[in-house]
Amino acid sequence: MFIGHFAAAYLLIALFPSVPPLVILFGVSFPDLLWPVLVLTGKERVTVSPDNPLQNAIGFTSYPFSHSLVTGSLIAAIPGLFIAYFVSPLAGIVFVAASASHWLLDVVTHVKDLPVLGTGRDIKVGLGLWNYPRSAFVLELVFYTVITVLVVQPFMVVTLLALGFAFHLINANSFLGFSKKNPFTARGYAVAALFGFLTFIGIAAWIFAGM
Ligand SMILES: [Zn+2]
Repeated sequence: MFIGHFAAAYLLIALFPSVPPLVILFGVSFPDLLWPVLVLTGKERVTVSPDNPLQNAIGFTSYPFSHSLVTGSLIAAIPGLFIAYFVSPLAGIVFVAASASHWLLDVVTHVKDLPVLGTGRDIKVGLGLWNYPRSAFVLELVFYTVITVLVVQPFMVVTLLALGFAFHLINANSFLGFSKKNPFTARGYAVAALFGFLTFIGIAAWIFAGM
């Protein structure tokens, strides 16, 4: 999931107006910012299928740190503590909650590969919306649109919708399989995720700062 995480960010920004939007934008993205770093350093593993660009063909073989509910939230608590100290205690708590929201939304789309604990004999969950890639494409866009319209201040709605639609279109090949071949290697996919999230955070933060 990509733009859907930012819908969760907009909701948290509306619920906690005293928390800087940038904290929340980084919070909802945190697992997918940590993940590429851990993939590139060999701590977590991903495989891609060269003949299939779809998201359910990506093998999230091992990502117990970035994408487990318990260990992932504990890791998010490290930046959370810094944020609590330097920004506000509430901002630190909301950062960790935002990071946990990432896991919850990923449960909807991922196949059963998301660890709960991140250690030992773990259970893995995932409702597998990605097994229905066209529906997943539409539903993520609808989810983003509905939340944005409902929770964002009216003067920012059009800009944030345009931002989300643009990134969803960039991501469309992984839902609709135009290319037949996967344009990414595993490491390339991780770098693209990192770059995509950072770019979206930067633009959204700029919009929330009043452009
Ligand atoms: Zn994720």
